[in-house]
Amino acid sequence: QFRARSAFKLQEIDERHKILKPGQVVVECGAAPGAWTQVAVSGVNSLPKDTNRSQGVVIAVDILSIHPLPGAVTLGGKDFTLSETQQEILNVLKGRKVNLVLSDMAPNATGTKELDHENIIALAYSALRFAIQHSDLQSTFLCKIWSGFRDRQLITDMEKFYRSVKVVKPPSSRCDSSEIFLLGKKFCGLGTK
Ligand code: SAM
Repeated sequence: QFRARSAFKLQEIDERHKILKPGQVVVECGAAPGAWTQVAVSGVNSLPKDTNRSQGVVIAVDILSIHPLPGAVTLGGKDFTLSETQQEILNVLKGRKVNLVLSDMAPNATGTKELDHENIIALAYSALRFAIQHSDLQSTFLCKIWSGFRDRQLITDMEKFYRSVKVVKPPSSRCDSSEIFLLGKKFCGLGTK
């Protein structure tokens, strides 16, 4: 009953790397149609389904509209890269720090590999910038990119802020696709590393 098969990628990453926990505050960039959101809502118990565990928060943002999903605050029709969108997210957060930033954002592919790579890297940096400004210590960052010549720089930049940075390719991500995920764990704060 997932809205898209992409749900399996997040499920697989979570099974292996344990990134979702009840009570977490999650900001999800590029969320439509909402399959990752479904996985996140259940993983952080934001509905909440289990009243004995702490209740998380999921804020899902996409430039396209997002069909409402119980347990998530959906901000559809919003370009994540704009500061006004990020301000809206902060208004929902009401001062709480974020525990997990997810970005599955992808630009419309032009078919020109290098251009598509540059565009998706720019989206990943926008999510990373938000994450380092608004995350709690020890928090997690996961972003999708289409692999290319700027991977190394992004990984190096993530390593400035996260104690561990891994390249992740979940089994359900097609091997003939250049799609990879970068997972940063244990945010160490701005300028502490
Ligand atoms: N994770 C989603 C799911 O499981 O349902 C699928 C996300 S899809 C692969 C990529 C999404 O990124 C698209 O819905 C697209 O509209 C969104 N996107 C691209 N650029 C964006 C931007 N600047 N701001 C917000 N969303 C963006």
